[in-house]
Amino acid sequence: MKVQCLIIGSGPAGYTAAIYTSRAGISNVLVEGHQPGGQLTTTTTIENFPGFPEGIDGFGLMQNMRQQAINVGATVQSGVVKSIDLSKRPFVAVLDDESTVEADSVVIATGASAKYLGLPDEKKYAGQGVSACATCDGFFYRKRNVAVVGGGDTACEEATYLSNLCRKVYMIVRKDHLRAQAAMQQRVADRDNIEVIYNANTVGLFGEDGVEGAHLVINRGEPNETTRDIAVDGFFLAIGHRPNTAFLDGQLTVDEQGYIVTDKESTATSVEGVFAAGDVADPHYRQAIAAAGSGCRAALDVEHFLNNQ
Ligand code: NDP
Repeated sequence: MKVQCLIIGSGPAGYTAAIYTSRAGISNVLVEGHQPGGQLTTTTTIENFPGFPEGIDGFGLMQNMRQQAINVGATVQSGVVKSIDLSKRPFVAVLDDESTVEADSVVIATGASAKYLGLPDEKKYAGQGVSACATCDGFFYRKRNVAVVGGGDTACEEATYLSNLCRKVYMIVRKDHLRAQAAMQQRVADRDNIEVIYNANTVGLFGEDGVEGAHLVINRGEPNETTRDIAVDGFFLAIGHRPNTAFLDGQLTVDEQGYIVTDKESTATSVEGVFAAGDVADPHYRQAIAAAGSGCRAALDVEHFLNNQ
């Protein structure tokens, strides 16, 4: 297949880029990736995406974006881009079914994935008590005890959310303070059923048929290292996200955290004709509406680029 624009990723950034390029008469294909619809499909009601006064569920919002893209002429293809050659134009992408797409321009909108601690137990108990999304899985832990790892805004938000459902929420924080904004910290402090455990690292999980608890090491500086076991049925990770760039094989400039570096004024990356939009290039805002906005900008940048060829 040969197109003018290949869009990689099916979150708000990818679909917005598909809508704009299609309406500009630019032939395109959007490859959906591992998680069609992206991170929003794993959330519940979204109340901060303008245009939906009563809120909208994440899955429904992404279905709407997909349909809108198709309605204006975008080609949406299931599959994953395994690799892409950005050394010359047209760029050539290889998909997981070994088919190829040739494209004069590319929009990378592959988003970011939740980070894990790297403990073998996280894999052992995957889907059996370990989760990286409180709003997706919190419901399963009603009236139970759970733990949230992390001390940032996400961790505070998730702990607060879970405190409405669960009997007790432990926050496991590796430093002696939270990193989150003051308002988020206050929300945590206001909940009687959240206990923040500072200077704590998780070293393992235990349980017969799923998570029943976590082994912690509390370190207030040598020699004051102690251990503590907490009884929890759910273990939620909220320690940040990693941008999905492995398939690029180092062909684009990224920052120290792995986010694609774009030009200050545009979505242009270090390779001419390749643009980046959404969380994959956004270490800061990480909001659906911000991703959609950058998808729009990327599409306009593509149009400008193609017109100047
Ligand atoms: P952050 O990077 O801000 O915070 C990550 C937290 O996880 C930190 O407390 C960090 O600890 C901890 N952490 C990282 N690695 C480990 C590890 N290996 N073991 C234990 N703890 C670890 O990520 P967030 O996802 O919280 O936020 C990302 C961005 O999104 C931020 O800009 C945030 O402001 C924004 N955001 C805004 C929201 C809002 O305004 N409503 C809601 C959610 C996110 P340490 O502090 O020690 O580094």
